[in-house]
Amino acid sequence: MQPHYDDNDLGAGGTIAALAAAGAEVHYLTVTDDLVGVLDASLSDDEARARLHAEQEEAGAEIGVTSQTWLDYPDAGEYGYFELRTRIIRRIREVRPDFVLTVDPDLPYEAHRDHLVVGRAASESILMYRFARIATDPQVDRAYEPHEIRGLAYYFTARPNTVFDIDASRQVKHRAIGAYRSQFTPEGIDALRRGLEAQERRWAADEAFDHGEALLVLARSHLHVNLDSRV
Ligand SMILES: [Zn+2]
Repeated sequence: MQPHYDDNDLGAGGTIAALAAAGAEVHYLTVTDDLVGVLDASLSDDEARARLHAEQEEAGAEIGVTSQTWLDYPDAGEYGYFELRTRIIRRIREVRPDFVLTVDPDLPYEAHRDHLVVGRAASESILMYRFARIATDPQVDRAYEPHEIRGLAYYFTARPNTVFDIDASRQVKHRAIGAYRSQFTPEGIDALRRGLEAQERRWAADEAFDHGEALLVLARSHLHVNLDSRV
């Protein structure tokens, strides 16, 4: 679950590609339309949105994404928290994920409201998706058989407790990022790759592998009145 079209891949693309290669089904939920960062000001909103979706499909094909869902809320704009939470819970009931990845809503000084709101709404949805009295879509709710989400992982986190080995999958991630042409110039994509590579190496500095992605992995039980928290 991501605020913007590239967050999952920039934050955890190597991890996700490795999971997909190992046989996991991967479903992306993108909350905003991400129009604010589009470089070409001559495009209409509809044209820009179509390009962003196509670029995401292209990147997703590299990573091994099974499905893409867009909520198309206005990027850096106004939208309701509870409506967003309802739509996330609806998607959880449809997809029945074992595990969820999203942005850490408690990253210190994070100023982008989309990251704060999406990380928070995704986390609260994981806490509450099984409560039948939280209604989403009547058809989805009627068909939903309760299932267990085993945990979640935050990327873009300052407090990782896990470094995932991406030696075998980092090239897939870096190829996928090349799809994001509407928001990055070719030089921008090169700079992004260099920055990511440096960070991947730093995260793996104490590991038995060379490139890693830092994640804060939590169980669902950590998400409410977790008085023993060490994270
Ligand atoms: Zn973002």
